[in-house]
Amino acid sequence: MNSTSTGARDEFRKLPSMNALLDEPEIALLATQQGRRAAIDALRALLDDARRAIADGDCAPDAQSWPARLAQRLDADSRPSLRPVINASGIIVHTNLGRAPLSADARRAINSVTSGYSNLEYSLADGQRGSRHVHARALLCELTGAEDALVVNNAAAALYFALTALCRGRGVLVSRGELVEIGGGFRIPDILRQSGAYLIEVGTTNRTHPRDFANAIDDETAALLRVHTSNFRQIGFTTAPPLEALVDLVQRARQLRVDGAPANLSQSRYAALRDAQPDASHNDSESLLVIDDVGSGALLDLTRFDLAAEPLVSESVASGADLTIFSGDKLLGGPQAGILVGRRAVIEALRHHPLARALRVDKLTLAALEATLHSYRRGQALHQIPVWQMISAPVDLLTARATRWRDALVAHGIDAAALAVIEGQSAVGGGSLPGETLPTALLALTVDHLDKVSTHLRTLDTPIVARISDSRLCFDPRTVLPEQEEALLRGIEKIVRGA
Ligand SMILES: *Cc1c(COP(=O)(O)O)cnc(C)c1O
Repeated sequence: MNSTSTGARDEFRKLPSMNALLDEPEIALLATQQGRRAAIDALRALLDDARRAIADGDCAPDAQSWPARLAQRLDADSRPSLRPVINASGIIVHTNLGRAPLSADARRAINSVTSGYSNLEYSLADGQRGSRHVHARALLCELTGAEDALVVNNAAAALYFALTALCRGRGVLVSRGELVEIGGGFRIPDILRQSGAYLIEVGTTNRTHPRDFANAIDDETAALLRVHTSNFRQIGFTTAPPLEALVDLVQRARQLRVDGAPANLSQSRYAALRDAQPDASHNDSESLLVIDDVGSGALLDLTRFDLAAEPLVSESVASGADLTIFSGDKLLGGPQAGILVGRRAVIEALRHHPLARALRVDKLTLAALEATLHSYRRGQALHQIPVWQMISAPVDLLTARATRWRDALVAHGIDAAALAVIEGQSAVGGGSLPGETLPTALLALTVDHLDKVSTHLRTLDTPIVARISDSRLCFDPRTVLPEQEEALLRGIEKIVRGA
């Protein structure tokens, strides 16, 4: 037996019909402006909400309130799913928050190139069809010292591309200490399997020597792959061969192949390789390669900021890697991209492979990448590229910012006792420098109902991602862009008042 009370029945009767709502002039106008379909869907959802509320004992909404409710609902429905967030977490390259924020120059370049047509694949010199691959190429070569460069969608794609195009059906040697999972399910053994190359594991989890590689090289070997273990670090009794040692082995092995040495060497392969003459000039991309996946791809040295070293792209190139792979949106501080730099013959082979078309980047990426690289070329990366501005921000500047935030909030009537500027740690993130931190200053906010408040923070118009530490909400100025400060302070005010 339905127990709907007379009162509730009266309230249900007060709900207008869809047609009556659509006949209201204000609602009719909204339906014309924002689309009839969207307006009807929104009204239906609002009517459903009202029916549920009445069933729970509420009254029907005021008849005058429908246009305003509809306008609000339509606003919420048309908000983009992907939108800006304030990163107050102190993690600079935050993969969940879109990794590197772009420099002003990179944003301007995207705007100017995408507002109209561009010479993406058009040679302005001779008025003929050109190649999109030319655009960042010279800059990448200049900045890394490589002979040639190619840009694809991301570094995972770049590695898959290299293994498929250059190693399919043959063996790829990888140290057991480098068979890593990078994140998001990207695992080196899986990517190798997908590429059609055979994974040959060498060495042990903690120690791998050049002779382990040497003894595993045979005529079926396509490449020695080194993978930077980006997001984890081994300590203790560990060793891994320097890149130069792998390059040296490969050069000797190439010479042995040229000399027609038997595939099944009677002496140990290591001894045979040791006696062979290195062949640095060998230029056949089908032969035997050293591929170096350096991950973040730093163009600047991190050690000057008291951080551990990340592999520098230029060092990998200078050590003689045939191919070096890195990301565009980690420490480079540019758009999502996978960058391959290396020997001309190798890059040329990739450029002509069908996958180059499948993995190509669009004009937005090329515009942003080129502008980002120009900042390095001018020697202005630390001042112009947000990732490097954040890494290099001195702690007294961060303390001054956090203090300014506190004072502004107190001036707006927030209880000073709930706010403190404390010492803390920022992280570079993006799967680089595990365990390494940069000293920072945090604005710490003491509130009740921490979980509810941090949820509220994430549902603001411009959501704020903060960190919880010692039961306080902490905001790290290092990763908050100066132009977002106002929105941050307004957001904090709002949640404190709402708590
Ligand atoms: C991050 C990383 C990748 C993947 O890079 P994406 O650009 O995210 O595809 C590959 N290899 C290493 C070593 C990495 O650190």
